[in-house]
Amino acid sequence: MSRQKKDPGNVLESPLETKSQEKAKSEKLRSVEEGRLKLYDPKADNAKKFLELLSQRITRDLALSLASCVHCGMCAESCYYALARPDDPTMTPAYKADQIRRIFKRHMDWTGRIVPWWVQARYPEDNEDLNRLKNIVFGTCSACRRCTLNCPMGVDTASLVRFARGLLTELGIVPEGIFNVSRDQWETGNQMAVTEQDYLETIAWIKEELEAELSISGIEIPVGKPDSDFMYAINPREIKFDPRSIAHAAKIFHFAGEKWTLPKFGWDHTNFGLFSGDDKLGAYVAKNVYEAADRLRAKRIVLSECGHGYRSTRWEGYNWAQYDQKLPTESVIITLIRYLKKGGIKVDPSKNPDPVTFHDSCNISRSGDLIEEPRWILKRVCSDFREMHPNRTENFCCTGGGGLLSMAEYRPLRLEVAKIKADQLIATGARLVCTMCHNCVDGLTDLIKYYKLNMKVVQVLELVSNAMVL
Ligand code: SF4
Ligand code: SF4
Repeated sequence: MSRQKKDPGNVLESPLETKSQEKAKSEKLRSVEEGRLKLYDPKADNAKKFLELLSQRITRDLALSLASCVHCGMCAESCYYALARPDDPTMTPAYKADQIRRIFKRHMDWTGRIVPWWVQARYPEDNEDLNRLKNIVFGTCSACRRCTLNCPMGVDTASLVRFARGLLTELGIVPEGIFNVSRDQWETGNQMAVTEQDYLETIAWIKEELEAELSISGIEIPVGKPDSDFMYAINPREIKFDPRSIAHAAKIFHFAGEKWTLPKFGWDHTNFGLFSGDDKLGAYVAKNVYEAADRLRAKRIVLSECGHGYRSTRWEGYNWAQYDQKLPTESVIITLIRYLKKGGIKVDPSKNPDPVTFHDSCNISRSGDLIEEPRWILKRVCSDFREMHPNRTENFCCTGGGGLLSMAEYRPLRLEVAKIKADQLIATGARLVCTMCHNCVDGLTDLIKYYKLNMKVVQVLELVSNAMVL
């Protein structure tokens, strides 16, 4: 009590304050406030803007993830970065999230505002600090969400990473690759800046090749055909680098007697908004697909094999775009299962004799809803299917997720930590690794080449197409 009396600013001293006490208190509060402001003197406008955006965009879920980490260290066991570099604490999910957490604490949490040194709360002060944060959230995490599923406290590190990416993207502090692809998607409606002419010409060429290969005529790859049973949306990689993928789909749809179409615009269901954390881009791209299907009066939307495209268009996009879901939106995997179950296509597994393993894409298994479905198909179209371990929601990322394939500056680290994935693939003894994601095709192909594995990457459509009995 006596100590309290010596402190003129102690507001607990008496419930009834004299005028002079009141004045002393308000002066003290002002000086504390000024001191706080003096402590935070950002050298760059970006740091200030970053904090403004943080205050505007923080949600209850994110705040919970920021507040509830108990630093048990369990997430280090989940992250392939941390597993590949066991002596490097900066690779642990908790460390990565802490770089965002310390800013949140300093800016918004009362403990961090009053005793920042105690909880290691700290403002970003300049562009250098923000650039360091950029390298952590873009360069050392593929947002695979393996740590998220394995945190006993429910801390969603991947969402924190995406959140921080979004704030930095808004400030233009973003890896060049992410910037370029996002710009292309804004400007042309597809992430590889494919022109309408290239799109239409490639499709016409695929149709001719397919007819020649099968020695039949009358195969259709319709574009912009109204009142179809479904509108097919694809990954631009299928136009630019892997037209065989569209050919396999067209062949299967043809023999299944399907009434389908591609749209003329709104055909790209990949979405860099998911990677950059830019919900506005996410909304724009997803809406392009939904509106195209509405325009064409399609009865459903079918998405080709792409992990982040599936997650963005099937799940997140309707929220980003605030768009009422009027049409069923499904992966082509579900369409294939329908054909196989109803006898629309016949398959012979002996046509795929090589040992095949399956890579679960993070955005489909962990963050989507398709786990057993691709396995159901593979067991019917391949004669030697083998699981890799761990699998399903515990699978390791292809190491190219989160947009990492577009960020060349982080390639050396990406390939170094890909050792975990390479060992996982080798242990299967398979010759083929199948994935239902174009991004994973590139990620896996890159690491297979780097680690000189005797394996080839294939997709579900290709294996089904090979197995068809015509
Ligand atoms: S597992 Fe969860 S609670 Fe434990 S350190 Fe990681 S994020 Fe924090
Ligand atoms: S989301 Fe994946 S890559 Fe990122 S920290 Fe978690 S486990 Fe590691």
